[in-house]
Amino acid sequence: MCGIVGFTGRENALPVLIKGLYSLEYRGYDSAGIAAFTKEGLRVVKTVGRIANLEAKIKEEHEDLTCTCGIGHTRWATHGGPSDRNSHPHLGGSDGKIAVVHNGIIENYKELRERLEAHGYVFQSETDTETVAHLVDYLHTGKQEDLAQTVLAAVSRLRGSYALGVVSMDNPEEIVAARRDNPLVIGLGNGENMIASDITAIIGRTKDYIILDDNEVAIVRPDSVVVMNEFGDRVEKKVQTVTWDMSAAEKGGYEHFMIKEIMEQPKAVAATVHPRVQNDSIVFEENGLTDDRLRDIENIHIIGCGSALHAGMVGKRVIESMCRIRCAAEVASEFRYENPIIGKKDLCIVISQSGETADTLAAMRLAKQAGAFTIAIVNVVSSTIAREADGVLYTWAGPEIAVATTKAYSAQLSALYLISVRIARVRGLISIGDERALSAELQRLPDCIEETLQCKKTMQRIATLYANRSSVFFLGRGLDYAAALEASLKLKEISYVHSEAYAAGELKHGTISLIEEGTLVVALATQPALFEKTVSNIREVVSRGAAVVLVTTDDFTGDESVCQHIVRLPKCLSEFSASLSIIPLQLLAYYIAVERSCDVDKPRNLAKSVTVE
Ligand code: GLU
Repeated sequence: MCGIVGFTGRENALPVLIKGLYSLEYRGYDSAGIAAFTKEGLRVVKTVGRIANLEAKIKEEHEDLTCTCGIGHTRWATHGGPSDRNSHPHLGGSDGKIAVVHNGIIENYKELRERLEAHGYVFQSETDTETVAHLVDYLHTGKQEDLAQTVLAAVSRLRGSYALGVVSMDNPEEIVAARRDNPLVIGLGNGENMIASDITAIIGRTKDYIILDDNEVAIVRPDSVVVMNEFGDRVEKKVQTVTWDMSAAEKGGYEHFMIKEIMEQPKAVAATVHPRVQNDSIVFEENGLTDDRLRDIENIHIIGCGSALHAGMVGKRVIESMCRIRCAAEVASEFRYENPIIGKKDLCIVISQSGETADTLAAMRLAKQAGAFTIAIVNVVSSTIAREADGVLYTWAGPEIAVATTKAYSAQLSALYLISVRIARVRGLISIGDERALSAELQRLPDCIEETLQCKKTMQRIATLYANRSSVFFLGRGLDYAAALEASLKLKEISYVHSEAYAAGELKHGTISLIEEGTLVVALATQPALFEKTVSNIREVVSRGAAVVLVTTDDFTGDESVCQHIVRLPKCLSEFSASLSIIPLQLLAYYIAVERSCDVDKPRNLAKSVTVE
C-alpha cells in the first residue's frame, strides 16, 4: 500500500515527483504530499484526497516552488484517517529538519511515541510514521554521524514493516532510503537518481534500477548511490533493466485501465502459456519444478488473497481432478496464523500479482520454514515473493494498473493449468498423447478468450438493465462456483453493489431467503455433467422472482426458457472453462460500475498492492 517517490538531480524535481505519484496512485489514494528542499528550508505541501488535489494545491499556494531534490507520498491510511494532518511527509523535531515518507506499519509506534513525548517531542498526527521522523531527529541531533547511520540506528529500533524515504535539511541533495518487507527500488539516471515503490514511477526517466533488499539502507545523491547492509557495510547491488516501456502502462485510447486490461487478456494468457509449451509438452526448467520433485509431491497448498485466492480455488479443482493429489486453496492471512500442517514433500503454490502481498509473503516464509517447496506465480519481476520462492512461474501479463485485477488473474489461471498438466503427466495420470492434446488446448485458450470478448456489447446492454440493483447473486457448482466467487468480487470491488457468490446447491440452506422479486442472479453452468443440477437451482430462484443471466457453453442442453439472458461461451476443454466464464462477468462488473459513475480504476478504500497485514 502507499506509493513513495523521491528524486535528486539537477532539473526541477517537482514535475518528476508529481508524475511519479500519479503512476503510483493505484497503490493508495486517500491523501498525498511532497517535501521539497528550497533555499529557505524544507517545504512540505500535503492534502487529503487524490494527487490531482495535491497538484492543484501546489499550483494555487506554492506557485514559486521549485527544487532539485524532494520526496513524495500517496497514502493508504492504516493509522489515523485520511486528513491533511495525517498525510505524509511527516516532519521530525520542533524545527522540522527531517522529513519522512513511509509505506508499512510500525508495530511498536505507541511505545516509541510515549518515549519521544517524554523527551519533549510534540506529535502533529495520529500516524505511526511520525514516530520515525521524530526518532530520526532524536538520534541525529547533536551527533556527528551522517543521516544514513542515524537511519540505520533508527530502523533497528522499529518493529513492523517499512519502506522509508528520509531527507534532512543538513544534506539538501540527499535521500536516505530503507526497507523491510515493503518494496523499494532505486532508479539510476545520469546525474540524477530516484527512489520509488515500483518501477512505474521511474520508467519515464530511466530503465536501470536496483532493488533494495530487506534491512538495507541506501544513500541516494545526484551522482551516486551507496547501499549498506544493517551493519553499515557497503553492499554491491545488481543493476537491472526494465524490459517494457511507458506505453504498456498507459491507457492507449481506452476510457479506463480496467477495460484495456480486460481486452489484453488473450495476450496475457498467450505470453504466459506459449514459452512453456515446447514440442507439445510443458517445460518448467526455469523454476526448479523438476519431474522428480513433481512426482514426489504429497499435498499441494495454493495460497493467495482476493482474486489470487480465487485463481487458487480454480486451480485446486483442476489439480485435484487431473492429478488426484489433495490440494487446498488457503487464505494467506488465515494460513499464517493457524499452525498449518505442512509436510516436507508438500508443494506450496503462492499467488500474488504484485509479488509483494504481505500476507502471502508471510505465509510463503512459513511454508519454506516447514520444509515445503515453494513456487510463486507472480506478475512483477524480481518482486520479493519472486525472489524468495524456491521457484517462480512468471505470469507475463505486463503492468496491471487498474486496482481490480483482470488480466493478471487470467494469467494466473493459465499458470495453474500448466502446473496441473505437467504434474498429471509426470505422475502417469495422463499419456504423452493426452499431454499433447491438453497443451494444444492451452495454446488455443487465448483465441477462445478473444472470441468470448465479443460479448462486450451484450454485457454492456445487460449492465444498463440491472445497474440499479442493490444486490446480485452469483451461483455455480465446482469450477463455476470458484469463478462465481471471482465474478462477485469484481462487482463488489468496483461498483459497490452488494453481491454474494454461492455454491448453487447451497443457496437453499439459508441464503435463498434473500432472493426477492427482481433480484439479479447470475448463474454459471459450464460443466456438462452439472447442467441439470444447476438448472434446478436456477428454477428455485426464478420461482422466487429472480431475474437470471445464464453464462454457459455453446452446447448447453438444459432448459433456457427460465433465464432472461443467455451468454454462450465458445467451446473449450471444460477444465479450462473458468478462463472463459469470467470474461463476460468482468465486463458486467465494469459496465455496471461505469453506469453507476464509479471510479473504476481506483475504487474506494482499496489499493492494488497490499503490503500491510
Ligand atoms: N502506516 C502509515 C500511515 O497510516 C503508512 C501507510 C501506508 O503504507 O500508506 O500513514
